[in-house]
Amino acid sequence: MNRAEFFAKATANMRVSGFGIAETTVHIPCPFCAEPDFMVSRVMESREPFSAGATCKHCGRSARFPVESDSDSTRTWLEVTDDGPHPDEMYPA
Ligand SMILES: [Zn+2]
Repeated sequence: MNRAEFFAKATANMRVSGFGIAETTVHIPCPFCAEPDFMVSRVMESREPFSAGATCKHCGRSARFPVESDSDSTRTWLEVTDDGPHPDEMYPA
């Protein structure tokens, strides 16, 4: 899988389900292999699960996304690789 294929697969596997501010759920693909549902969380409750991280069911790698807020409307996060085989690069070349 090259870089373009990775981003095409990741884009296809990035989705939002549910309706309304309380139920809208984000489905984040694996940041390593782009398989779907690496992390699934309601948007309004995403801080803790994003910060705690997840392990991919497909490739076994783990990552977490510590969330920081500088206001009620702006959130940023940093991707941190935790466990599993470390890729030579963050994404395929
Ligand atoms: Zn994976």
